Amino acid sequence: MVSMRCTNCGGSLQEFRALTGEEQKFVREHKPRHTRLGSYFRCAREGCLRYQRLGDQNDGGSFPEPEK
Ligand SMILES: [Zn+2]
Repeated sequence: MVSMRCTNCGGSLQEFRALTGEEQKFVREHKPRHTRLGSYFRCAREGCLRYQRLGDQNDGGSFPEPEK
C-alpha cells in the first residue's frame, strides 16, 4: 500500500493498493504510453474508482462503475 492524494476523494490523502490482473488490463488499454504498470495504484477507499500513477497523481483515471 502507498499513500497518495486522491483526486476523486477531494485531494485527500488515501491508501492505494496494487492493481489486480483485470485492472491492469484496463489500464493498459487506456494508458498505452505507460507500460510500466507496476507504477499504477488504485485508491483503496470503498466506492472510489480512481487509479493513478505513483509520483504523478495527475496521471490516472477512473475504472468503470462495477456492474450490478
Ligand atoms: Zn479515492
